[in-house]
Amino acid sequence: MSFRLARTARWVAADARVLDTRVDILVDDGRIAAVVPSGAQDFGEAPRLPLAGRIVLPAFVDAHTHLDKGHIWPRAPNATGEFATAIATVAADRAANWSAQDVAARMEFSLQCAYARGTRAIRTHLDSLGDQSRISFPVFAAARERWKGRIELQASPLFGVDVLFEPGQLQTVEQMVETHGSKLLGAVTYMIPGLQEALDCLFGLAERKGWDLDFHVDETADPEARTLGAIADTALARKFSGKILVGHCCSLAQQDERTREETIAKVARAGIAVVSLPMCNMFLQDRRAGRTPRWRGVTALHELKAAGVETMIASDNTRDPFYAYGDMDMLEVWREGVRILHLDYPFADWADAVGAAPARAMRLDPPRLAVGEPADMILTQARDFTELFARPQSDRVVIRDGVALDAAPPSYNQLDSLKGLAP
Ligand SMILES: [Zn+2]
Repeated sequence: MSFRLARTARWVAADARVLDTRVDILVDDGRIAAVVPSGAQDFGEAPRLPLAGRIVLPAFVDAHTHLDKGHIWPRAPNATGEFATAIATVAADRAANWSAQDVAARMEFSLQCAYARGTRAIRTHLDSLGDQSRISFPVFAAARERWKGRIELQASPLFGVDVLFEPGQLQTVEQMVETHGSKLLGAVTYMIPGLQEALDCLFGLAERKGWDLDFHVDETADPEARTLGAIADTALARKFSGKILVGHCCSLAQQDERTREETIAKVARAGIAVVSLPMCNMFLQDRRAGRTPRWRGVTALHELKAAGVETMIASDNTRDPFYAYGDMDMLEVWREGVRILHLDYPFADWADAVGAAPARAMRLDPPRLAVGEPADMILTQARDFTELFARPQSDRVVIRDGVALDAAPPSYNQLDSLKGLAP
């Protein structure tokens, strides 16, 4: 498919396949004006884009990323590929290199990648330890302003609950979220003795401010890591009325069936949404030098969905010590999610996991190919799901507000001027 849509006010994507249905889509003035069964309606003089049964997708939403960490790999590679090494390597690089200019340039690079691939909303976590929050949050707020109308951006602070009560920590986070943030508070939960006190403190602040919550949860194979249950208990006990999104929850898959079922039931009751990060989990979890991994690292996502929990997948890290690869491409995340998590049989059941579900978790309008919606869509060459997931769809055409984007993913040499990033 090689074409460029002119800036016409009105055109028809004819005989497109929207998952399992063949339709004609009429675009008028940047919005979807009609979606009808293929051939059912005559749209007159509108220019036609013949798609011959190829799949058209709505725009993507990426609910869990780390734009502040992205692309530091060349100067901060993970020497062992393990989780603990990732944490230590990022901490050293953050202390040495994360100036406003450095964070802003890497963030910009990732946003250009995501935009070119068809993503229209992103939530990022921002490392919020010590003075770094005072650097990263204003950089994020400037990016949010710059990308307005192209990518809707949200930020959640990120720090371990073990440092919550260190002098100044929570006050700084509160101030940064208040001034530059997204009505969103977050942290990494660990099985520390003061976990409940920390959760109550975070929930309390979110309640006072009317903020939502986003946690990094149980990113480990250790079945004794059970902070997910503690978060659900806290939400239920406090009758928390905001939204809660939790990421990872890897240990849930390693627990005995009864524990897992009890926790999932609580998560469902508390209305907590779960985002799985399949590529990063498979990279980090169950990695030991010289030993072949025995599990894929991902949470019990099917069981969560079956229990009525809002479930989704997302990018997580890109070319940093937590994940050596990644390109902010939600179609790659979906493709890898299908393979790692078995998001097929039928694959259409999980199509919401890269768009509508993360949008709901982020309080955004779900991207939909429906009348009245912005004409934000991704045209592919694929005619069915094996064609869709067999290839990277590098030749996809991203349409935003009815216009084909001219954007391509940036060249890596755009990062070369940053300290230590030229190969
Ligand atoms: Zn993460």
